Amino acid sequence: MAEYAEHVQVWIDRYKAAYAAAHGQDAATGLQVEYDRGWFKIGIGDHWDKNVRQKELAELCQNLEQRAVEKQADALDMDEYQALAMRTAMKTDGEKPAPEYLSLSLAGEAGEIAELIKKHVYHGHALNVHALSYELGDIQWYLAVMANVYGFDLSEIARRNIAKLKRRYPDGFSQEASRNREE
Ligand SMILES: [Mg+2]
Repeated sequence: MAEYAEHVQVWIDRYKAAYAAAHGQDAATGLQVEYDRGWFKIGIGDHWDKNVRQKELAELCQNLEQRAVEKQADALDMDEYQALAMRTAMKTDGEKPAPEYLSLSLAGEAGEIAELIKKHVYHGHALNVHALSYELGDIQWYLAVMANVYGFDLSEIARRNIAKLKRRYPDGFSQEASRNREE
């Protein structure tokens, strides 16, 4: 029986930790999780809003843990990323990396992606998604550095692009809208 109580406590602790990671420590302050005859009761303050079996509790934990991972991924915002990218930018032209070098490199990295896809489609190789993700990262790096050379924040570049696409395709992409767009 003591062993079972320990098992229950593990689930309660996991839920509380996942909740705090997903919503922040402050939001988790009043969180209560109790166990009673096969049911986990979950509440904030004195309001009980969930009554679940262990299987559902496991799903809730997984969802919260996933949300916490996504939240962490969001933490590297574009401008922060750009500043980090500049740390290793090669200075071939005085203080700034040369635009020629950057644009050739962007095309070169795009070529590396094309090569992976070509090998997959025409040579029967398994698509190396891991390698692909690194090549996308290389493109992102050159993009960030080139934007910096011309004085743009990466977030500004992203916002302008989204604004342009919203103008062109207010209802999402369609071939018809593409044929009839103004510029
Ligand atoms: Mg590369």
